[in-house]
Amino acid sequence: MRRTKIVATIGPASDSDVILLELVKAGVDVFRLSFAHGDIPSGVERLRRVRALAPDLAIMVDIPGPKIRAGSFGTTPVTLTIGDEIELVEAFDETSTAHRIAVERLNVLSQLKMGDKIHIGDGGVSLDVETTGTKVTARVSSGGAVMGKPGLSLPTSILNDRLPTEDDRARIEALRGESFEILAVSFVRSAFDMVSVRTVLSRDDVMLMAKIETGEGVQNLDEIIAVSDAIMVARGDLGVRMPIEEVPHLQKEIVRHGVRYARPVVVATQMLESMTHAQVPTRAEVTDVANAVLDGASAVMLSGETAIGDDPVGTVITMDRIVRRAEEYFDYEAWGSGLGVQQVGMGTRSTRITAAITGAAWRAAMEEKAVAIVACTRSGMTARAISRFRPPMPIVAITPSESTARQLRSSWGVQEIYISPAHDIDELCEFAITRLKQSGIAKTGDPVVIMAGSASGGAQITDTVRMVIVP
Ligand code: PEP
Repeated sequence: MRRTKIVATIGPASDSDVILLELVKAGVDVFRLSFAHGDIPSGVERLRRVRALAPDLAIMVDIPGPKIRAGSFGTTPVTLTIGDEIELVEAFDETSTAHRIAVERLNVLSQLKMGDKIHIGDGGVSLDVETTGTKVTARVSSGGAVMGKPGLSLPTSILNDRLPTEDDRARIEALRGESFEILAVSFVRSAFDMVSVRTVLSRDDVMLMAKIETGEGVQNLDEIIAVSDAIMVARGDLGVRMPIEEVPHLQKEIVRHGVRYARPVVVATQMLESMTHAQVPTRAEVTDVANAVLDGASAVMLSGETAIGDDPVGTVITMDRIVRRAEEYFDYEAWGSGLGVQQVGMGTRSTRITAAITGAAWRAAMEEKAVAIVACTRSGMTARAISRFRPPMPIVAITPSESTARQLRSSWGVQEIYISPAHDIDELCEFAITRLKQSGIAKTGDPVVIMAGSASGGAQITDTVRMVIVP
């Protein structure tokens, strides 16, 4: 079984029923739906269709934050040539051309200063601001082709909207009664941003994922992770807001921080970019995916490759092969032994007890070469806490909650997930052993480690670790 999860972004190339089902078969664990493009009702309609076709997977909905977009360049690529002058205007529902870009946001152009850099899309094309005042112009400093409605990265000082933005709020409202597991929040800059989104969302059944993609996000990483349920290394925007040579190091640092807090960490963007149109990825991309696995990512993500690419299914199959091979090389023992104590942020006593119990469970499982570690978990916390150890044996989650079961699709190594109404610890152990035997993970005589809440601990806290020899 593959341990690192695959997130695939759904778009026009992949939202037909046939392709969605093929993507599930190819091994996608999480479908990501971007609510930055298109209107809200069609986003909701797409979400409902994906939910109906993938009732057991996790769905991540991504809200845009203060992302500014250009008016459409149309469906055929428009080349911006180095040295050309371009006028910038604030306008909505207007097209952009090679000489005039419509900026879909009011009151931003007046804040630009001469020499400011504007990146278009994921950073290949950039402009230097040359004149400000009544007519704002910029010169192309790095040329290339653009199409559709690319994002415009203006200096962060201009993007001072608080989260959630008005656009985000409208999306959260429209999603109020919908079924999805993860809300990915763009351009998070502080813990306050995440707390504000959580207050507006006000749903216990949805995990909040902070996209780390700005300098402030990196600076405040610790406080952001402490109040988030998961994080994403959003390398597209990160690479235009920070010096590009910082990206590999930031990726490692963000992954390590996420693991320290037992949060799922997704590494995203341009992982197999060339496969948007080519049948085979570049060697550098293959190495990048493998390195993300070795860095300890919980999941790797495909964006344009599956949203608008020529072969979404083939791309997922390729990613699956690269990940499996990298996992053969991963040093599981060294990873688990090198982990420090789990950070619990503002966590309660029960979080600390769970963290301690998972450490004991990992050691017992490694010493006795257990065939599985079972986490009985209501919220998913126990499964996520053992997942950070990256144990070589399957992690099996048993939960009474269907939404927890789907959320755990995003956690590294959580392989089998069973729904059980049992609450007594003996009943849970019996249920776990029966299911492990049925699925072929365990046979008579195999050691299995089980974590659960005892009756005396109120069964709400994971306070017990047991080694069971399968009868
Ligand atoms: C990114 O910037 O890397 C990212 C994942 O965000 P988006 O795809 O929404 O631009």
